[in-house]
Amino acid sequence: MAALVFVEIEEGEVKKSSLEAVSYAAAVQEGPTAIVFGAINDGEMDKIGAAGAAKVLHVTDDQLAAPNIMAYASAIAEAMSKEGSDLLVLAKSSLGDPVSARVAIKTGASLATNVVDLPDTSDGFKVKCSIYTGKAFAITALSGEKKILGLKKNAISVKEDAGSPAVEEFAPAHVEADFKVKVTERAKATGEILLPEAELVVSGGRGLKGPENWGMIEELAKTIGAATGCSKPVSDMDWRPHHEHVGQTGIKVSPSLYIAVGISGAIQHLAGVNSSKYILVINKDEEAPFFKAADYGVVGDAFEVVPKLTEAIKKAQ
Ligand SMILES: Cc1cc2nc3c(=O)[nH]c(=O)nc-3n(C[C@H](O)[C@H](O)[C@H](O)COP(=O)(O)OP(=O)(O)OC[C@H]3O[C@@H](n4cnc5c(N)ncnc54)[C@H](O)[C@@H]3O)c2cc1C
Repeated sequence: MAALVFVEIEEGEVKKSSLEAVSYAAAVQEGPTAIVFGAINDGEMDKIGAAGAAKVLHVTDDQLAAPNIMAYASAIAEAMSKEGSDLLVLAKSSLGDPVSARVAIKTGASLATNVVDLPDTSDGFKVKCSIYTGKAFAITALSGEKKILGLKKNAISVKEDAGSPAVEEFAPAHVEADFKVKVTERAKATGEILLPEAELVVSGGRGLKGPENWGMIEELAKTIGAATGCSKPVSDMDWRPHHEHVGQTGIKVSPSLYIAVGISGAIQHLAGVNSSKYILVINKDEEAPFFKAADYGVVGDAFEVVPKLTEAIKKAQ
């Protein structure tokens, strides 16, 4: 019996959050099996193995190359039955969430999402879940034979030395009803790193005084390969586009590093960034609330600190 892990692919590359899910599953049950849909770049299967998967089921059916919630749920439920899996692990995401809910219905599994820690099996099967946009935790007890866990991003580090996986083609049954909805085209915003998926984010607030000063934010972001974000007032004043607005009423980000420049750290902004692995705050006011949530802080004028930081990084590169 092996845990199954749903691994998401973006433009042929395995998402880091899915590698975290593989390492999580490997820590719960040795040698989990991963399931992957569509074309995958050279070397990516090895990453899945290195993260802990003993086997990868590769679905190469053209009709399943693009994400399809219904068909993926059917295929994953079928794979769980084929592998005799009593545990499905996947990364919490806009695709993973609806897929996991459907697999739970199909398999009768109990489901917990936003999981942040390994299960406690000393008395049943309990997991710690992040709730209220990261402000509290719920200890959730799962019962029943099958369980599904949706892992919060950055909750666990990725193993990189576990081994090479056996890769097996898997052709799930074609369920006609799963193809009632068809995505006819997917267009990515040109040249931009998408904020919700970004590994690094540089975000600016009202402390930057005006849209004309965003050059230094963009320069820092370009230097480190980051997406740009902003606080709500900044997008409300049209200094930046609304799709960059981070927070409770905007985009929730989970990067490895969130750099906040001239942002006070209001609770509504923090609600969108508290899944970040590390937070660096640059603010001239040492009393700014953001420093309480920060891993690293620079008390200083953004107009001096940011260009110096960018130059230092360029030199180090
Ligand atoms: C219902 C509701 C929902 C909301 N949702 C969101 C949301 O989703 N996202 C969000 O961001 N906000 C949201 N807000 C607004 C939130 O409460 C704050 O008002 C907002 O986040 C403040 O933005 P700011 O930090 O950019 O600006 P300010 O609060 O004005 O802070 C500017 C900061 O810049 C610093 N600063 C000034 N000059 C410099 C300098 N030269 N160098 C370095 N630092 C400098 C200051 O010390 C200050 O800390 C919401 C509010 C409500 C009521």
